Amino acid sequence: PSSALTGVAFITGAGSGIGAATARAFAAKGVRRFVLVDLVPAGLKAIDTELQAGGAQTAVIAADVSKEDDVKGAVAAAVQTFGRIDYAVNSAGVGALGAFLETPTEEVREQTAQMLKQDPLAGWVRRRGRTDASDSADPKRQQRGSIVNLSSVLGTVAVPGVPAYVASKHAVVGLAKAAAVEHAGRGVRTNNIAPGWIDTPMTNNEHVAAVLEAQTAPGKTPAGRAGTAEEVADVAVFLSSTEASFVNGATWIVDGGFTAL
Ligand code: NAD
Repeated sequence: PSSALTGVAFITGAGSGIGAATARAFAAKGVRRFVLVDLVPAGLKAIDTELQAGGAQTAVIAADVSKEDDVKGAVAAAVQTFGRIDYAVNSAGVGALGAFLETPTEEVREQTAQMLKQDPLAGWVRRRGRTDASDSADPKRQQRGSIVNLSSVLGTVAVPGVPAYVASKHAVVGLAKAAAVEHAGRGVRTNNIAPGWIDTPMTNNEHVAAVLEAQTAPGKTPAGRAGTAEEVADVAVFLSSTEASFVNGATWIVDGGFTAL
C-alpha cells in the first residue's frame, strides 16, 4: 500500500517466520506500536530488540494461544498498554504430520481448537462494542480495524499426510468468514491469507524438507520455488491497509500458483 499505516499491531506467532516478517513489514509502513505474542520467548526477544532499535514501542507477551485465558490476557494487556488494537494478525500455528488413518480424532480436534482459539478478536470486538465511558478502547474513537488470519492453501485443498492441519485450516477460513459478516458493521474487516509452501522454520526442517522440495518443484508449484515469509507479510500489510477497505471475508492466495495447477 502507498499510504502509511498508523495504529497498534497485534501479532501472534511474532517470534518466527511469517509473524516476524509481518512485524517488520508493518514497521516499514510506519507502524510504531506493537503487541508481540508467541509461545517461545527467544524468538520474541529477537524481533522485539529489532523493532525497538527502529524506534517502536512494544508489549511482549509470552502466551499459548491455544489457551483461552492466555488469549484474553494478551488482548487485555494490549488494551491496557496501548488502549486499542488496529491490526491483528494471527500467525501462530503448528503443523502435525501423520497419515489420515493413523491420526486420532482427538488430534484433529485439538489442532482445530488451537487454530480457532488463536483468534483474539472475539475479545477485542466485544470490548469495542461496549459503550460505557470506562472502556479505554472507546468504540467511538475506534470504529475501524482489520483481522488477518493465517490459514493456508490447505484451508481450501488437501495434500496427503496432514489431516489435522487441513481440517484446522479449513476451520480458520470458515471462522474468518463468520467474523467478517458479523463485524463489518463495527468497521472491522476479517480476511485470511492462504500461503502455499513458504520457507520458514515450520517447513525448513529435517521432518518436512523432503516434502517442501517435492511440493515446490515446478510440476507442483509453478513458481518452482518456495515463497518467502516477506512475500506473505506484504499481503498481510495490504489486507490491513485502507487500500483493502472493501476486502472482507476473503481468502487471499499467496502460493506461487500451487492451487492454479
Ligand atoms: P513458524 O513455525 O516459523 O512460526 C510460527 C510461530 O507460532 C512460532 O514462533 C511458534 O512458537 C508460534 N506458536 C505456535 N504455537 C503457538 C501457540 N500455541 N501459542 C503461541 N504461539 C505459538 O511458522 P510460519 O511458517 O511462520 O507459520 C505462520 C502461520 O502460517 C501458521 O499459522 C502456519 O500454519 C501458516 N502457514 C505456513 C505455511 C508455510 O509453508 N510456512 C504455509 C501455509 C500456512
